[in-house]
Amino acid sequence: MKAEAGEIRAEGWTCASCGSPLELLPADIAYMGSSFQVELPRCRKCGFTLIPQDLAEGKMLEVEKLLEDK
Ligand SMILES: [Zn+2]
Repeated sequence: MKAEAGEIRAEGWTCASCGSPLELLPADIAYMGSSFQVELPRCRKCGFTLIPQDLAEGKMLEVEKLLEDK
């Protein structure tokens, strides 16, 4: 089974707080009572984490599948 995290990319994003370029880093996400790690664009400087719109709206379904696959 493919375990892609979708089309999330860090390129082109800059931190809303300090303006540094964001990098894809593991972030803890809580969903449906579970917490798990996904890679999200984050700022190394101040810790800002970008939650892409598609992740907030639909990608969680894919993440849910990943959990079931364990
Ligand atoms: Zn920052």
